[in-house]
Amino acid sequence: MTQQIEFPGVIVGVGVPSKETFSALDRATHDWEMRAARGECAWICADCCMGFPDGMPTECPHGHQSCTDIINRDKELAQEQGGSDGS
Ligand SMILES: [Zn+2]
Ligand SMILES: [Zn+2]
Repeated sequence: MTQQIEFPGVIVGVGVPSKETFSALDRATHDWEMRAARGECAWICADCCMGFPDGMPTECPHGHQSCTDIINRDKELAQEQGGSDGS
């Protein structure tokens, strides 16, 4: 099996998306992660594909160190940033 196109017509067909598209996507993802880290919205671990309706857990329920690392990093970031006001 040598399938090369994973997202037909999106990435391959359109060519390189603008930097603006990327940073907007990036920001949206980041915003969501920060809110989930503060327990303000649901979170889904990209690794385990497990949903957490109450936001990020304190550690991966499966005991994966890689997941826990991501959780800790995002929670720290979210704390540094506090709410989204200020700056
Ligand atoms: Zn995980
Ligand atoms: Zn995990």
